[in-house]
Amino acid sequence: MVRAEQVCKDFGSHRVLNGVSLEVKRGEVLCVIGPSGSGKSTFLRCINHLESVNAGRLYVDGDLIGYREANGKLYELSEKQAARQRRDIGMVFQHFNLFGHRTALENIIEAPIRVKGVDRSSAVARAKDLLGQVGLADKADSYPAQLSGGQQQRVAIARALAMDPKLMLFDEPTSALDPELVGDVLQVMRNLASEGMTMVVVTHEMGFAREVADHLVFMDGGRVVEEGVPTEVLSAPREDRTKAFLSRIL
Ligand code: ATP
Ligand code: MG
Repeated sequence: MVRAEQVCKDFGSHRVLNGVSLEVKRGEVLCVIGPSGSGKSTFLRCINHLESVNAGRLYVDGDLIGYREANGKLYELSEKQAARQRRDIGMVFQHFNLFGHRTALENIIEAPIRVKGVDRSSAVARAKDLLGQVGLADKADSYPAQLSGGQQQRVAIARALAMDPKLMLFDEPTSALDPELVGDVLQVMRNLASEGMTMVVVTHEMGFAREVADHLVFMDGGRVVEEGVPTEVLSAPREDRTKAFLSRIL
């Protein structure tokens, strides 16, 4: 579902991603861990072309992301074409970015109606169903400010799911939450995974990674330093940098 081939990304003269290659199969969950500044968010943002890449290729479901290839050269897609690719890729950020002046339900139906042309009554029915799935059936008419951080994040997940994405990207979805609110969000993500959603999750929730991820990648300095089955990487890291990182956070 996701294939990264030697992806490089520079900000000015700073190489932030330095040849990242990895693969996520359909229905798999990949967790990405690594120190601050290692390029995790940048990598996620490249997967839906919120950032361009300077070298390498990214494919989602077989489609080259952000570029068109002709005569061996890559040409960047127009913003409209990139937005078309992004429709199928859900993204959930650390800060939920809900529209503050719209209710939970209105936040969820906005994109399906505006982007996909879904009729309002179908969008509302689907949104209510999704609110139920994330445990917020009774919060349809609440505004973000009336919801806890964990509830807002679950609305953000429902909003992403309303577009029927084939891939979900999560960038530290629980790291801005009070500890007692983390569990509900992780439970929603666990359910999604068990329903077969393909997911790339940047997280420092090692329990989640161990239990839910099929594959774990440790990034440092814009490279994949170590990867493998989560239980193995977490309990018997091979690389010194992985050991040092895990000893700090576990
Ligand atoms: P964190 O754990 O703190 O979220 P991260 O692994 O997600 O870190 P990134 O946000 O991907 O790291 O940043 C990687 C590097 O790229 C950092 O050195 C950061 O300062 C730099 N960077 C990120 N975005 C930009 C930008 N828009 N312009 C310039 N530099 C950037
Ligand atoms: Mg980040």
